[in-house]
Amino acid sequence: MGKVLIIGAGGVGTVVAHKVAQNKDVFTEIMLASRTKSKCDAIAEAIGGNKIQTAQVDADNVEDLKRLFNSFKPELVINVALPYQDLTIMDACLACGVNYLDTANYEPKEEAKYEYSWQWAYQEKFKEAGLTAILGCGFDPGVTSVFTAYAAKHHFDEIHYLDIVDCNAGDHGKAFATNFNPEINIREVTQKGKYWEDGKWVETEPHAIHKPLNYPNIGPKESYVIYHEELESLVKNFPTLRRARFWMTFGQEYLTHLRVIQNIGMARINPIIYNGVEIVPIQFLKAVLPDPGELGENYTGETSIGCRIKGIKDGKERTYYVYNNCSHEAAYKETGAQGVSYTTGVPATIGAIMFMKGLWRKPGVYNVEEFNPDPFMEQLNKQGLPWHELFDVDLEM
Ligand code: NDP
Repeated sequence: MGKVLIIGAGGVGTVVAHKVAQNKDVFTEIMLASRTKSKCDAIAEAIGGNKIQTAQVDADNVEDLKRLFNSFKPELVINVALPYQDLTIMDACLACGVNYLDTANYEPKEEAKYEYSWQWAYQEKFKEAGLTAILGCGFDPGVTSVFTAYAAKHHFDEIHYLDIVDCNAGDHGKAFATNFNPEINIREVTQKGKYWEDGKWVETEPHAIHKPLNYPNIGPKESYVIYHEELESLVKNFPTLRRARFWMTFGQEYLTHLRVIQNIGMARINPIIYNGVEIVPIQFLKAVLPDPGELGENYTGETSIGCRIKGIKDGKERTYYVYNNCSHEAAYKETGAQGVSYTTGVPATIGAIMFMKGLWRKPGVYNVEEFNPDPFMEQLNKQGLPWHELFDVDLEM
Protein backbone atom coordinates (compact mmCIF):
# COMPACT_ATOMS: atom_id res chain seq x y z
CA MET A 1 0.00 0.00 0.00
CA GLY A 2 2.90 2.40 0.52
CA LYS A 3 6.56 3.10 1.14
CA VAL A 4 7.66 3.80 4.68
CA LEU A 5 10.80 5.40 6.06
CA ILE A 6 11.74 4.67 9.69
CA ILE A 7 14.13 7.17 11.31
CA GLY A 8 16.02 6.00 14.42
CA ALA A 9 17.73 2.67 14.99
CA GLY A 10 17.57 2.37 18.78
CA GLY A 11 15.43 -0.02 20.84
CA VAL A 12 12.16 1.33 19.46
CA GLY A 13 13.47 1.52 15.87
CA THR A 14 14.48 -2.15 16.13
CA VAL A 15 10.92 -3.17 17.04
CA VAL A 16 9.31 -0.93 14.40
CA ALA A 17 11.59 -2.41 11.72
CA HIS A 18 10.63 -5.97 12.75
CA LYS A 19 6.90 -5.26 12.91
CA VAL A 20 6.78 -3.26 9.69
CA ALA A 21 8.63 -6.10 7.92
CA GLN A 22 6.02 -8.56 9.29
CA ASN A 23 3.26 -6.53 7.60
CA LYS A 24 4.44 -6.69 4.02
CA ASP A 25 0.91 -6.55 2.64
CA VAL A 26 0.76 -2.96 3.97
CA PHE A 27 4.32 -1.70 3.58
CA THR A 28 5.52 -2.17 0.01
CA GLU A 29 9.05 -0.83 0.56
CA ILE A 30 10.86 -0.17 3.83
CA MET A 31 13.88 2.00 4.60
CA LEU A 32 15.54 2.34 8.00
CA ALA A 33 17.73 5.44 8.40
CA SER A 34 19.61 6.79 11.39
CA ARG A 35 22.67 8.74 12.45
CA THR A 36 24.77 5.56 12.59
CA LYS A 37 24.16 3.47 9.48
CA SER A 38 25.90 0.38 10.90
CA LYS A 39 23.09 0.09 13.50
CA CYS A 40 20.50 0.11 10.69
CA ASP A 41 22.49 -2.52 8.79
CA ALA A 42 22.65 -4.80 11.85
CA ILE A 43 18.86 -4.57 12.35
CA ALA A 44 18.19 -5.18 8.63
CA GLU A 45 20.49 -8.19 8.72
CA ALA A 46 18.77 -9.63 11.81
CA ILE A 47 15.42 -9.35 10.01
CA GLY A 48 16.93 -10.84 6.85
CA GLY A 49 15.48 -11.50 3.44
CA ASN A 50 16.64 -8.17 1.95
CA LYS A 51 13.39 -6.69 3.23
CA ILE A 52 14.86 -3.41 4.51
CA GLN A 53 17.02 -0.79 2.81
CA THR A 54 19.22 1.34 5.05
CA ALA A 55 20.66 4.86 4.95
CA GLN A 56 22.57 7.39 7.02
CA VAL A 57 20.82 10.62 7.93
CA ASP A 58 21.33 13.50 10.32
CA ALA A 59 17.78 14.20 11.42
CA ASP A 60 18.83 17.52 13.00
CA ASN A 61 19.52 18.75 9.48
CA VAL A 62 16.49 19.54 7.30
CA GLU A 63 18.52 19.62 4.06
CA ASP A 64 19.98 16.18 4.78
CA LEU A 65 16.47 14.83 5.49
CA LYS A 66 15.11 16.40 2.29
CA ARG A 67 17.83 14.71 0.23
CA LEU A 68 16.86 11.34 1.68
CA PHE A 69 13.09 11.92 1.30
CA ASN A 70 13.52 13.04 -2.32
CA SER A 71 15.57 9.99 -3.23
CA PHE A 72 13.47 7.31 -1.42
CA LYS A 73 10.11 9.10 -1.82
CA PRO A 74 8.31 7.60 1.21
CA GLU A 75 4.61 8.12 1.75
CA LEU A 76 5.06 8.11 5.53
CA VAL A 77 7.93 8.73 7.95
CA ILE A 78 7.90 6.95 11.31
CA ASN A 79 10.03 9.12 13.59
CA VAL A 80 11.55 6.99 16.36
CA ALA A 81 14.72 9.05 16.71
CA LEU A 82 14.71 11.44 19.66
CA PRO A 83 12.12 14.11 20.57
CA TYR A 84 14.72 16.77 19.64
CA GLN A 85 14.31 15.87 15.96
CA ASP A 86 10.49 16.14 15.72
CA LEU A 87 10.41 19.63 14.20
CA THR A 88 13.22 19.18 11.68
CA ILE A 89 11.57 15.98 10.46
CA MET A 90 8.17 17.71 10.26
CA ASP A 91 9.78 20.56 8.26
CA ALA A 92 11.33 18.09 5.82
CA CYS A 93 7.96 16.29 5.51
CA LEU A 94 6.27 19.57 4.55
CA ALA A 95 9.01 20.40 2.05
CA CYS A 96 8.80 17.00 0.35
CA GLY A 97 5.10 16.11 0.68
CA VAL A 98 5.56 13.25 3.18
CA ASN A 99 3.17 12.25 6.01
CA TYR A 100 4.47 12.02 9.58
CA LEU A 101 4.12 9.88 12.73
CA ASP A 102 6.02 10.01 16.04
CA THR A 103 5.94 8.62 19.60
CA ALA A 104 7.09 11.57 21.73
CA ASN A 105 6.45 15.31 21.72
CA TYR A 106 9.10 17.80 20.68
CA GLU A 107 11.56 18.81 23.38
CA PRO A 108 14.09 21.59 23.05
CA LYS A 109 17.56 20.22 23.94
CA GLU A 110 18.35 23.09 26.28
CA GLU A 111 15.17 22.83 28.41
CA ALA A 112 13.22 19.78 29.64
CA LYS A 113 9.81 21.16 28.72
CA TYR A 114 6.93 18.93 27.71
CA GLU A 115 4.20 20.49 25.67
CA TYR A 116 2.59 20.05 22.28
CA SER A 117 2.57 23.78 21.46
CA TRP A 118 5.49 23.55 19.03
CA GLN A 119 3.97 20.68 17.06
CA TRP A 120 0.35 21.89 17.24
CA ALA A 121 1.64 25.11 15.62
CA TYR A 122 2.14 23.02 12.41
CA GLN A 123 -1.61 22.33 12.15
CA GLU A 124 -2.37 24.82 9.34
CA LYS A 125 0.78 23.98 7.39
CA PHE A 126 -0.04 20.25 7.32
CA LYS A 127 -3.68 21.00 6.46
CA GLU A 128 -2.73 23.25 3.56
CA ALA A 129 -0.23 20.66 2.28
CA GLY A 130 -2.90 17.92 2.51
CA LEU A 131 -0.61 15.89 4.78
CA THR A 132 -1.36 13.94 7.97
CA ALA A 133 0.79 14.18 11.11
CA ILE A 134 0.01 11.61 13.83
CA LEU A 135 1.48 12.62 17.19
CA GLY A 136 2.35 10.42 20.16
CA CYS A 137 1.74 6.93 18.78
CA GLY A 138 3.76 4.80 21.20
CA PHE A 139 2.27 3.20 24.34
CA ASP A 140 2.12 6.21 26.59
CA PRO A 141 1.41 8.48 24.82
CA GLY A 142 -0.30 6.33 22.23
CA VAL A 143 -2.17 3.24 23.38
CA THR A 144 -3.21 4.95 26.65
CA SER A 145 -4.75 7.76 24.57
CA VAL A 146 -6.52 5.25 22.29
CA PHE A 147 -7.73 3.31 25.38
CA THR A 148 -9.25 6.57 26.69
CA ALA A 149 -10.91 7.33 23.35
CA TYR A 150 -12.26 3.76 23.16
CA ALA A 151 -13.68 3.97 26.69
CA ALA A 152 -15.30 7.33 25.96
CA LYS A 153 -16.80 6.02 22.73
CA HIS A 154 -18.15 2.67 23.94
CA HIS A 155 -18.51 2.63 27.70
CA PHE A 156 -19.30 6.12 28.98
CA ASP A 157 -21.52 9.09 28.26
CA GLU A 158 -19.02 11.25 30.14
CA ILE A 159 -15.60 10.40 31.54
CA HIS A 160 -14.75 12.23 34.76
CA TYR A 161 -11.67 10.65 36.33
CA LEU A 162 -8.70 9.17 34.47
CA ASP A 163 -5.67 7.50 36.02
CA ILE A 164 -3.10 6.19 33.58
CA VAL A 165 -1.12 3.52 35.42
CA ASP A 166 2.26 2.38 34.11
CA CYS A 167 4.06 -0.48 35.83
CA ASN A 168 7.31 -2.11 34.79
CA ALA A 169 7.72 -5.17 36.99
CA GLY A 170 10.62 -6.42 34.91
CA ASP A 171 14.12 -7.23 36.14
CA HIS A 172 17.09 -6.60 33.83
CA GLY A 173 19.67 -7.59 36.44
CA LYS A 174 21.58 -4.26 36.29
CA ALA A 175 22.10 -1.98 39.31
CA PHE A 176 20.80 0.97 37.28
CA ALA A 177 19.59 1.26 33.71
CA THR A 178 16.83 3.11 31.93
CA ASN A 179 14.37 1.35 29.66
CA PHE A 180 14.57 3.89 26.88
CA ASN A 181 17.03 6.60 25.93
CA PRO A 182 18.64 7.51 29.33
CA GLU A 183 18.88 11.22 28.58
CA ILE A 184 15.20 11.49 27.63
CA ASN A 185 14.12 9.19 30.48
CA ILE A 186 16.05 10.97 33.25
CA ARG A 187 14.89 14.40 32.04
CA GLU A 188 11.31 13.14 32.18
CA VAL A 189 11.27 11.47 35.59
CA THR A 190 13.22 14.13 37.49
CA GLN A 191 10.86 16.97 36.57
CA LYS A 192 8.12 18.21 38.90
CA GLY A 193 4.91 16.22 39.16
CA LYS A 194 1.78 17.68 37.55
CA TYR A 195 -1.83 16.58 37.15
CA TRP A 196 -5.13 18.06 36.02
CA GLU A 197 -7.88 18.80 38.53
CA ASP A 198 -11.03 20.95 38.32
CA GLY A 199 -9.95 22.81 35.21
CA LYS A 200 -6.35 23.56 36.16
CA TRP A 201 -2.90 22.02 36.48
CA VAL A 202 -1.69 21.17 39.97
CA GLU A 203 2.10 21.02 40.35
CA THR A 204 3.92 18.92 43.00
CA GLU A 205 7.53 18.31 43.97
CA PRO A 206 9.01 15.34 42.03
CA HIS A 207 7.55 12.01 43.25
CA ALA A 208 5.67 13.72 46.12
CA ILE A 209 2.43 11.75 45.61
CA HIS A 210 2.74 7.99 45.77
CA LYS A 211 0.95 4.87 46.93
CA PRO A 212 0.91 1.17 46.12
CA LEU A 213 -1.36 0.26 43.22
CA ASN A 214 -2.37 -3.26 42.37
CA TYR A 215 -1.44 -4.37 38.85
CA PRO A 216 -3.02 -7.42 37.16
CA ASN A 217 -0.86 -10.54 37.30
CA ILE A 218 1.81 -8.53 39.17
CA GLY A 219 0.36 -7.34 42.48
CA PRO A 220 0.94 -4.13 44.44
CA LYS A 221 3.76 -1.82 43.37
CA GLU A 222 4.63 1.62 44.73
CA SER A 223 3.44 4.10 42.09
CA TYR A 224 4.27 7.80 41.74
CA VAL A 225 2.35 10.65 40.15
CA ILE A 226 4.52 12.19 37.44
CA TYR A 227 3.66 14.51 34.57
CA HIS A 228 3.27 12.73 31.26
CA GLU A 229 2.66 14.43 27.95
CA GLU A 230 -0.57 12.70 26.91
CA LEU A 231 -2.37 14.44 29.79
CA GLU A 232 -2.15 17.74 27.88
CA SER A 233 -3.99 16.54 24.78
CA LEU A 234 -6.40 14.26 26.68
CA VAL A 235 -7.79 17.02 28.90
CA LYS A 236 -8.22 19.17 25.78
CA ASN A 237 -9.94 16.43 23.76
CA PHE A 238 -12.05 15.12 26.67
CA PRO A 239 -13.20 18.31 28.41
CA THR A 240 -15.52 16.38 30.77
CA LEU A 241 -12.43 15.17 32.67
CA ARG A 242 -12.43 16.50 36.22
CA ARG A 243 -9.13 14.90 37.11
CA ALA A 244 -6.41 13.25 35.02
CA ARG A 245 -3.24 11.78 36.52
CA PHE A 246 -0.35 9.61 35.39
CA TRP A 247 1.23 7.04 37.73
CA MET A 248 4.50 5.21 37.17
CA THR A 249 6.17 2.54 39.30
CA PHE A 250 9.77 3.01 40.43
CA GLY A 251 11.83 0.67 42.57
CA GLN A 252 13.68 2.05 45.62
CA GLU A 253 17.06 1.25 44.02
CA TYR A 254 16.14 3.20 40.90
CA LEU A 255 15.03 6.23 42.93
CA THR A 256 18.18 6.14 45.07
CA HIS A 257 20.39 6.11 41.96
CA LEU A 258 18.34 8.90 40.46
CA ARG A 259 18.72 11.03 43.59
CA VAL A 260 22.49 10.53 43.61
CA ILE A 261 22.74 11.31 39.89
CA GLN A 262 20.88 14.58 40.48
CA ASN A 263 22.76 15.49 43.67
CA ILE A 264 26.17 15.10 42.05
CA GLY A 265 25.14 17.14 39.02
CA MET A 266 25.14 14.35 36.45
CA ALA A 267 21.52 15.06 35.43
CA ARG A 268 22.45 18.58 34.26
CA ILE A 269 21.39 19.36 30.70
CA ASN A 270 23.45 22.51 30.27
CA PRO A 271 27.04 22.20 28.99
CA ILE A 272 30.18 22.45 31.17
CA ILE A 273 33.79 22.74 30.07
CA TYR A 274 35.90 19.68 30.97
CA ASN A 275 39.58 19.67 29.93
CA GLY A 276 38.81 22.37 27.40
CA VAL A 277 35.97 20.36 25.85
CA GLU A 278 32.30 21.23 26.18
CA ILE A 279 30.27 18.31 27.54
CA VAL A 280 26.66 17.97 28.72
CA PRO A 281 26.74 15.86 31.93
CA ILE A 282 23.54 13.92 31.16
CA GLN A 283 24.83 13.08 27.67
CA PHE A 284 28.11 11.83 29.16
CA LEU A 285 26.11 9.78 31.67
CA LYS A 286 24.16 8.21 28.78
CA ALA A 287 27.46 7.11 27.25
CA VAL A 288 28.43 5.12 30.37
CA LEU A 289 25.02 3.65 31.27
CA PRO A 290 23.79 0.36 29.80
CA ASP A 291 22.31 0.76 26.31
CA PRO A 292 18.51 0.23 26.67
CA GLY A 293 18.57 -1.61 23.37
CA GLU A 294 20.91 -4.22 24.89
CA LEU A 295 18.89 -4.91 28.05
CA GLY A 296 16.64 -7.49 26.45
CA GLU A 297 18.68 -10.66 26.72
CA ASN A 298 18.26 -11.31 30.45
CA TYR A 299 15.14 -9.24 31.06
CA THR A 300 12.44 -11.15 32.94
CA GLY A 301 8.98 -10.16 34.16
CA GLU A 302 6.39 -7.98 32.52
CA THR A 303 4.99 -4.50 32.06
CA SER A 304 1.38 -3.58 32.78
CA ILE A 305 0.04 -0.29 31.43
CA GLY A 306 -3.55 0.79 31.37
CA CYS A 307 -6.26 3.35 32.02
CA ARG A 308 -8.54 3.43 35.05
CA ILE A 309 -11.60 5.50 34.31
CA LYS A 310 -14.62 6.63 36.30
CA GLY A 311 -17.61 8.36 34.74
CA ILE A 312 -21.28 8.18 33.90
CA LYS A 313 -23.18 5.78 31.68
CA ASP A 314 -26.99 6.01 31.38
CA GLY A 315 -27.12 8.23 34.46
CA LYS A 316 -25.20 5.73 36.61
CA GLU A 317 -21.62 5.85 37.86
CA ARG A 318 -19.34 3.32 36.21
CA THR A 319 -15.71 2.28 36.66
CA TYR A 320 -13.58 0.70 33.94
CA TYR A 321 -10.00 -0.54 33.68
CA VAL A 322 -8.43 -1.39 30.32
CA TYR A 323 -4.82 -2.62 30.19
CA ASN A 324 -2.15 -4.61 28.45
CA ASN A 325 0.52 -6.77 30.06
CA CYS A 326 3.65 -7.40 28.00
CA SER A 327 6.38 -9.95 28.75
CA HIS A 328 9.97 -8.75 28.31
CA GLU A 329 11.09 -12.28 27.42
CA ALA A 330 8.46 -12.72 24.70
CA ALA A 331 9.31 -9.28 23.26
CA TYR A 332 12.99 -10.21 23.16
CA LYS A 333 12.31 -13.56 21.56
CA GLU A 334 10.33 -11.94 18.76
CA THR A 335 12.36 -8.79 18.06
CA GLY A 336 15.62 -8.84 20.05
CA ALA A 337 14.40 -5.86 22.11
CA GLN A 338 12.93 -5.60 25.63
CA GLY A 339 9.31 -4.92 26.54
CA VAL A 340 9.45 -1.13 26.83
CA SER A 341 10.84 -0.81 23.28
CA TYR A 342 8.27 -3.39 22.17
CA THR A 343 5.29 -1.63 23.73
CA THR A 344 6.38 1.58 21.95
CA GLY A 345 7.36 0.13 18.55
CA VAL A 346 4.25 -2.03 18.04
CA PRO A 347 1.77 0.89 18.42
CA ALA A 348 3.93 3.07 16.13
CA THR A 349 3.66 0.32 13.51
CA ILE A 350 -0.10 0.03 14.06
CA GLY A 351 -0.47 3.80 13.63
CA ALA A 352 1.43 3.48 10.35
CA ILE A 353 -0.90 0.65 9.29
CA MET A 354 -3.90 2.86 10.16
CA PHE A 355 -2.45 5.58 7.95
CA MET A 356 -1.57 3.30 5.03
CA LYS A 357 -5.04 1.74 5.06
CA GLY A 358 -6.60 5.22 4.95
CA LEU A 359 -8.29 4.72 8.35
CA TRP A 360 -6.30 7.45 10.09
CA ARG A 361 -5.74 9.96 7.35
CA LYS A 362 -6.85 13.59 7.58
CA PRO A 363 -4.82 16.66 6.68
CA GLY A 364 -3.51 18.39 9.79
CA VAL A 365 -1.71 17.55 13.03
CA TYR A 366 -3.55 15.20 15.40
CA ASN A 367 -3.02 13.33 18.64
CA VAL A 368 -4.03 9.68 18.38
CA GLU A 369 -7.21 10.00 20.47
CA GLU A 370 -8.64 12.21 17.70
CA PHE A 371 -8.89 9.21 15.34
CA ASN A 372 -11.28 6.24 15.39
CA PRO A 373 -9.94 3.93 18.15
CA ASP A 374 -11.72 0.76 16.96
CA PRO A 375 -9.44 -0.45 14.13
CA PHE A 376 -6.38 0.37 16.25
CA MET A 377 -7.74 -1.66 19.19
CA GLU A 378 -8.36 -4.57 16.82
CA GLN A 379 -4.77 -4.44 15.57
CA LEU A 380 -3.34 -4.35 19.12
CA ASN A 381 -4.75 -7.85 19.58
CA LYS A 382 -3.27 -9.02 16.27
CA GLN A 383 0.17 -7.40 16.47
CA GLY A 384 1.28 -8.64 19.90
CA LEU A 385 -0.27 -6.32 22.51
CA PRO A 386 -3.59 -7.91 23.54
CA TRP A 387 -5.71 -5.87 25.93
CA HIS A 388 -8.20 -6.74 28.67
CA GLU A 389 -11.13 -4.92 30.24
CA LEU A 390 -12.51 -4.94 33.78
CA PHE A 391 -15.81 -3.33 34.72
CA ASP A 392 -17.04 -2.08 38.09
CA VAL A 393 -13.65 -2.43 39.76
CA ASP A 394 -12.23 -0.63 42.77
CA LEU A 395 -10.01 1.94 41.06
CA GLU A 396 -8.26 2.89 44.30
CA MET A 397 -6.74 -0.59 44.61
P1 NDP B 1 17.45 5.22 21.50
O1 NDP B 1 18.35 6.24 22.10
O2 NDP B 1 17.69 3.77 21.76
O3 NDP B 1 17.43 5.41 19.90
C1 NDP B 1 17.35 6.65 19.29
C2 NDP B 1 17.86 6.49 17.86
O4 NDP B 1 17.77 7.76 17.20
C3 NDP B 1 19.33 6.07 17.79
O5 NDP B 1 19.48 5.11 16.78
C4 NDP B 1 20.03 7.37 17.43
O6 NDP B 1 21.20 7.23 16.66
C5 NDP B 1 18.99 8.04 16.57
N1 NDP B 1 19.26 9.45 16.50
C6 NDP B 1 19.48 10.32 17.51
N2 NDP B 1 19.76 11.54 17.04
C7 NDP B 1 19.69 11.44 15.68
C8 NDP B 1 19.88 12.35 14.63
N3 NDP B 1 20.19 13.63 14.83
N4 NDP B 1 19.75 11.91 13.35
C9 NDP B 1 19.44 10.61 13.11
N5 NDP B 1 19.25 9.70 14.06
C10 NDP B 1 19.37 10.12 15.33
O7 NDP B 1 15.97 5.62 21.92
P2 NDP B 1 14.67 4.65 21.99
O8 NDP B 1 14.66 3.77 20.80
O9 NDP B 1 14.61 4.08 23.34
O10 NDP B 1 13.50 5.74 21.86
C11 NDP B 1 13.13 6.29 20.60
C12 NDP B 1 11.99 7.29 20.77
O11 NDP B 1 10.87 6.65 21.34
C13 NDP B 1 12.32 8.46 21.70
O12 NDP B 1 11.80 9.63 21.11
C14 NDP B 1 11.55 8.17 22.96
O13 NDP B 1 11.18 9.34 23.64
C15 NDP B 1 10.34 7.48 22.38
N6 NDP B 1 9.63 6.62 23.36
C16 NDP B 1 8.27 6.72 23.43
C17 NDP B 1 7.57 5.95 24.32
C18 NDP B 1 6.07 5.96 24.32
O14 NDP B 1 5.46 5.06 24.91
N7 NDP B 1 5.40 6.89 23.67
C19 NDP B 1 8.26 5.04 25.26
C20 NDP B 1 9.66 4.91 25.03
C21 NDP B 1 10.33 5.72 24.13
P3 NDP B 1 22.60 6.69 17.31
O15 NDP B 1 22.40 5.24 17.38
O16 NDP B 1 23.65 7.11 16.34
O17 NDP B 1 22.72 7.35 18.66
